[in-house]
Amino acid sequence: MNLRSRWLMHLTSFAFVLLLLIWTPPVASQQPNLWAQAQWWVACTPPSAHAQAEFQAVRAAANEASLQNVQLCQSPYVPNASATVVQGPPRPVQVMTPFGYQVAFQPSLLPVIFYNPSFFAQVDVLTNNPNVIRGILAHELGHHKLGHVDPGAPLALLSHPYQKELDADRFAGVVLARLAVPAADLDLVQRQVLSVFGSPSHPPTAARIEGMREGYVAGGGKLDGSSPPSTSAILTQVRRWY
Ligand SMILES: [Zn+2]
Repeated sequence: MNLRSRWLMHLTSFAFVLLLLIWTPPVASQQPNLWAQAQWWVACTPPSAHAQAEFQAVRAAANEASLQNVQLCQSPYVPNASATVVQGPPRPVQVMTPFGYQVAFQPSLLPVIFYNPSFFAQVDVLTNNPNVIRGILAHELGHHKLGHVDPGAPLALLSHPYQKELDADRFAGVVLARLAVPAADLDLVQRQVLSVFGSPSHPPTAARIEGMREGYVAGGGKLDGSSPPSTSAILTQVRRWY
């Protein structure tokens, strides 16, 4: 092998290595992300027909374009109901490669509301009032509308937990007014989770009732003149059983 051909060989190898370094073949991303797909199917058990119908009615009253892709799923792993995002089915996108545009699959985040069917059934039977579940669904939709669980909205995501809950309650109040829910039912929505003094994540019941009432009035609802229960009034109710 003469010097010239050896030189050419080195140059070719160098060019080949350089090409490998600067060009990552899009082969890996062309495959659908089966793991993401599996996660999605495991995570979302479709809602019952009744739950879906109620959810759609509440979402229609909310009348927000950004809520149209929120999915309702049932899950025994949430205590009551929860707004969150899950890894959705891979979404095909066009990517630019050295060989022109190609289709690749990217993971997607899907806004979801999980509800615990035993909790909803219990609330439904105990209250015998469909507006209570509607209020809960409207509250969870509020978390999505206000960006409380959206990794792309860090400001909303990081706001104080109490503020998030009160804002979602206010949103729910507006939706309940649009659904022509009687003012007397507002208390019931909050009383179904008895939390007199609140918790690290949720404000006390009395404050939440206030928040929902504010939204109700903002949504055109008329309060019935009754005053909202105070924390001490609810506490008295609790204490008499001990
Ligand atoms: Zn909440």
